[in-house]
Amino acid sequence: MLIVQKYGGTSVGSIERMKNVAARCLASQRQGHQVAVVVSAMSGETNRLLKLVDEIHDDHNDREVDVIVSTGEQVSVGLVALAIRKAGGKARSFLGHQCKILTDSSFARARIVDIDAGPIRDAMAAGEIAVIAGFQGVDEKGNITTLGRGGSDTTGVAIAAALKADVCEIYTDVDGVYTTDPNIVPTARKIERISYEEMLELASLGAKVLQIRSVELGMKYAVPIHVRSSFSDVEGTWVVPEDAAMEKVTVSGVTASRDESKITVEDLPDQPGIAARMFAPLADANISVDMIVQNQAYDGTTDLTFTLPKIDRKRAVDLLKEQVPELVGKDGERVVFDDEISKVSVVGVGMRSHAGIAKTMFTLLADEGINIQLISTSEIKVSCVIARKYAELAVRTLHEGFGLSLPASERTGL
Ligand code: ASP
Ligand code: MG
Repeated sequence: MLIVQKYGGTSVGSIERMKNVAARCLASQRQGHQVAVVVSAMSGETNRLLKLVDEIHDDHNDREVDVIVSTGEQVSVGLVALAIRKAGGKARSFLGHQCKILTDSSFARARIVDIDAGPIRDAMAAGEIAVIAGFQGVDEKGNITTLGRGGSDTTGVAIAAALKADVCEIYTDVDGVYTTDPNIVPTARKIERISYEEMLELASLGAKVLQIRSVELGMKYAVPIHVRSSFSDVEGTWVVPEDAAMEKVTVSGVTASRDESKITVEDLPDQPGIAARMFAPLADANISVDMIVQNQAYDGTTDLTFTLPKIDRKRAVDLLKEQVPELVGKDGERVVFDDEISKVSVVGVGMRSHAGIAKTMFTLLADEGINIQLISTSEIKVSCVIARKYAELAVRTLHEGFGLSLPASERTGL
């Protein structure tokens, strides 16, 4: 088999741990596999570098910032390659420009456009383990770019796609993807298999195990992703194409976000063009809004409520306060916000074929006296915004109510 193994920051967090990584790669190679490894910066290193930047310059969206923050991975690949050699193997390190991880030029959040897998293939053909720097690439002009926080996952999956690898193993400090955060619900279970689509929802809703973009790439190129622990040999979670068995489970996971705020603009005129004009300054300021709900009142006015990342709330309110008087004329305008919210969500491809998930969710929350402020749904997800102080109670209630503490095979429909 051809295996791409990606090791995260904690897995290469010390020289001892790098030796463990070297031993793992060599063990896979000894079993007859061809191995390419993608590594992150040592844990804490990228944060340390960004802090240095912050002392001079507060915009991370800058060519020079990528030059700086990409260095963490350069140190890691060199050290891991040395560790493999020291353990008796053959290894060669590659930086983004050496295996031509070509990206666009959006510094700090570049997207991979192409990879030249030739040099990596040559190394592997010579019996070497290719050790590739995660997170970094190079644009057409030769500028160093980075792929956004957590971007080594995306490097791993992209390299696996380019090599047509049999699997991309993502080694991390947890042993897989769980039905919910085990710190909130101790009976949370490790999910054995999950579809790309469900994983995308979970990652978008705040599960931090995989960078969203890596799941998108995995789905696009059908790369099986195995999320597992670098500290044990147990099977982790497989992220794979959807199959019939997955449909039987109605809810696969429960999440709660804590980093969102809610804004309501009240008494807007109920006319064409108002929403377009209201959201224009937010879009121009690169603020992405999420759940949008509009209510029509009988008096010809409308209230618009939406959620957005908490870090953007202040800017958004300031922009709206400038914009709204123009939209509503002289009176009536009000911009109110709430930072004490949480979005709780249930996710599962089984929702496509099972009715009533939303109703069950609302009932479970109501039975605990939890008020629902906003609701949004997709084909495989139901989200409710609730008061933040109830987030953990809601997660526990939904996890129990949908039977997620039971093994997937024992969960009945509903
Ligand atoms: N070192 C980068 C970060 O901390 C990329 C990664 O670890 O995936 O975000
Ligand atoms: Mg990560």
